[in-house]
Amino acid sequence: MSRPFICKLHDAYNINTVTTMSFAVTRRLWDNGSTLTIAFVSDPSDTLRRAIISAASQWLPHINLTFDFVEGHEGDIRIATNTLGIHKSVLGNYALQIDPSEPTMTIGEDENQPSFNATVLHEFGHALAAAHEHLHPDSDIPWDKPKVYAYYRTHGLTDEETDRMVLNKRPHSSVTYTPYDPKSIMHYSVLNELTLGDFEIAENTEISQQDIALMKLLYPKNVTETQ
Ligand SMILES: [Zn+2]
Repeated sequence: MSRPFICKLHDAYNINTVTTMSFAVTRRLWDNGSTLTIAFVSDPSDTLRRAIISAASQWLPHINLTFDFVEGHEGDIRIATNTLGIHKSVLGNYALQIDPSEPTMTIGEDENQPSFNATVLHEFGHALAAAHEHLHPDSDIPWDKPKVYAYYRTHGLTDEETDRMVLNKRPHSSVTYTPYDPKSIMHYSVLNELTLGDFEIAENTEISQQDIALMKLLYPKNVTETQ
């Protein structure tokens, strides 16, 4: 059995009081037009470092932010790398509230893994304040829940974590600007064996057209031109 993509988004916010876009948390947005300093805190190889920069930079044409990859261990975003297979990021500017000695993002695989590019895109999506698309209020995945719990248990998640990370959709109480997008890089893949009937979503490997539309809403480039 291949290992699932597991990303432990650190979503330290009260979902009932925030405004979401498909599917971002607006109070976790960085100031539009700002420069984010990004450091590597676990001293990855030059090859891995370059691969992360290359993948992360695929977001740049769609946002009005600058990524400044810096030497040393101090930055707004601090990336740890390992090969343990579990990835993490805090959501957007919540990174500024993390102790400076702690990473804000973990990439748990190296550049030789086929899913590496998608993993970096996904974690940087969180760093830009995008949430998990499969938890969108309008997602309609026919989960076979007992199988889902059992499957993720075998991969180290508690049932509470499976609820929070895989199953529990966000409430519809908040504003959603773009519709549910099963092609989003922020969507987990959905195995057919974990659903009722014949339903699956393959692993998304690229930024979707709607991911681009969302980022253009969140960080518009033409703001200063119209002032
Ligand atoms: Zn994630």
